[in-house]
Amino acid sequence: MNEAYRRRVGTARPSHLMFTGGVGGLIDLPNFTVLVRGVDDWSYQAVPSWQPIHEPRLLAAVRDVYRQPGVVELRAAPWLEETPGDPSDLALRIGVPVTPFPQWLRCTACNTLAALDSKTFGFINAKARRPDEARFFHPCRGNKKRLAVPARFLLACTNGHLDDFPYVEFVHHGAPCAKATHPTLRMDDHGGNLGANVKITCTNCQMHRNIREALGAAGERNLPLCRGRHPHLGVFRPCEQTPKVLVVGASNQWFAETLTVLAVPPTGASALRAKVVEMWDGALAGVTGPEVLAFALTQPNFTSLRAWPAAQVWEAIAAHRASLAADGHADAFAAGQARPDLLMPEWEVFTTKPVPEPMPDFTLRDDGGVPAGLQTALADVVQVERLRMVRALVGFTRLDAPDPADPDLVERAPISREATPPWVPASEIRGEGLFLRVRDDLIAAWEERVTASATIAAHADAYARYRRNRYSERIKGPFDPMRHWPGARYIALHTLSHLLIRAIALECGYSSASLAERVYAGTDDDPRAGILIYTAVPDAEGTLGGLVALGEPDALTRVTDCALRDAMSCSSDPLCAERLPGQSDDFLHGAACHVCLFVSETTCERGNRFLDRRLVVPVGDPDLALLRDLPTFAGTPSAASAAGSTPSSMLSATAGTAR
Ligand SMILES: [Zn+2]
Ligand SMILES: [Zn+2]
Ligand SMILES: [Zn+2]
Ligand SMILES: [Zn+2]
Ligand SMILES: [Zn+2]
Repeated sequence: MNEAYRRRVGTARPSHLMFTGGVGGLIDLPNFTVLVRGVDDWSYQAVPSWQPIHEPRLLAAVRDVYRQPGVVELRAAPWLEETPGDPSDLALRIGVPVTPFPQWLRCTACNTLAALDSKTFGFINAKARRPDEARFFHPCRGNKKRLAVPARFLLACTNGHLDDFPYVEFVHHGAPCAKATHPTLRMDDHGGNLGANVKITCTNCQMHRNIREALGAAGERNLPLCRGRHPHLGVFRPCEQTPKVLVVGASNQWFAETLTVLAVPPTGASALRAKVVEMWDGALAGVTGPEVLAFALTQPNFTSLRAWPAAQVWEAIAAHRASLAADGHADAFAAGQARPDLLMPEWEVFTTKPVPEPMPDFTLRDDGGVPAGLQTALADVVQVERLRMVRALVGFTRLDAPDPADPDLVERAPISREATPPWVPASEIRGEGLFLRVRDDLIAAWEERVTASATIAAHADAYARYRRNRYSERIKGPFDPMRHWPGARYIALHTLSHLLIRAIALECGYSSASLAERVYAGTDDDPRAGILIYTAVPDAEGTLGGLVALGEPDALTRVTDCALRDAMSCSSDPLCAERLPGQSDDFLHGAACHVCLFVSETTCERGNRFLDRRLVVPVGDPDLALLRDLPTFAGTPSAASAAGSTPSSMLSATAGTAR
């Protein structure tokens, strides 16, 4: 490959590679578009200081996705600090490998449409430190270097394949050109939305055809079957799907499938589980019975297991062996076996007292306690002074987003040419957070009131309809539309989380996009009811202690008051307040909208779905609200009177004991 091509063509934040354009995804650069190549092509050779990211719990979960232990590492993108002023700076040649895609370009001056390998176009990337000026050109009209841009159309299928639009075949209706073996094409863009008016012409035989004939139902008839191309890997796989036309820049070209864990010290049962997983290969795998274990425990390399009773250790070994056996059996997954619960160990750490010893990656403080005015709602407040969140990219999907609760539903496209990649891209964020636990009795009483309500039924019906509309055609066996329904409790906690995030952003001057959430919501006998709000950007904001400071009683009272007061009304009311989910396919929220509840894509763990103000505060029927009686705050105007619309009889004046 030409030297110029090996130079940097742009920059992307590490989080960008996880959320908006990682392996297999297209990234828009100022003058063209590139595709991030598979992990087989990433190189760390020139990065001497490079180290894998250490997070055993996440690594185990990633292995679980691939159902085999092949993945050995989590790796951040290769990167080197730049040396300003050094023209031969190695850093300028290090980065995530990309490839120009689509590989068909159009000259902006003469509308010539050709593939990169036709040698019709040239490439300029002369200034090592000005990657934004890199561009393709067409030497047309007196050999002026006219800008050539990506031809806008691509094909993609639900198996995750991506291909150039077959312009030559399309314009000639599948037959070869009568006049030329390598015909020259033109693309005339007459404007309009979504390429509704783009004409492709063969300049040799004058045949022409409008892209319109490739869209929608016409496309099903007029387009060839998917070629199974994975351009990021340079391979073709068998595929029998009819592809769909995508426009460059469409948001459904790439959806990340990621796993995220909070780095926590293992506690109690999960500590033993983690230990067993860690010691499995080469040690515990050979322990076939309690007697073998009894002997093994006398050996020096098993010392760390002596902290638990032998019977308990044997139980954990047997359980892990059973789960491995189930993993090897694809039917176990088809029958609905869920992935291991990544949230449970985190919940255990947040709710176990005393809090664990401070560590560089995880430091809790819970001396603030629950402010007097919030004691009717919250059971605990934990300030997280230091945390580390690690995210791994395990694959991606196209056209439909992966279902986070049901990751096997939408076909996952590979990030490596190997069936199991040797490593997966990962990123870590250090920051701070605030964990709030909602009172068990409050949640239990509320669930009793709402479980059989028409509102929850509307949420559940919408969920079933949504899944049936989107996914039922993909499902080979029997389809359970309610599978992984998050439940009423999730919707209430999730809504509370959004309300607090928005109030915190206002209070601290954070951009709400710099915060993220993690909702701990159990169902049935599982007691979990908590939320973690944390700083989600590696920038300075996360180190200022602002979020931790909000855990102090006065600040927390003020922010919560603000959040709940805001929840009472929305400038889109009564439309917003009266909305129930289910009126259209993509609609899984109730009283919620951009004005009152939605947050940015990187902040929300469920894409702004499963939100409803009426389940948290008395927007409509007070029985539906988790906080039927809004907490009344000492020293602040009563939330009720500020909201205006709530009859005061519904509010109890909880006497706040002064702290
Ligand atoms: Zn031209
Ligand atoms: Zn022709
Ligand atoms: Zn395909
Ligand atoms: Zn609203
Ligand atoms: Zn959310």
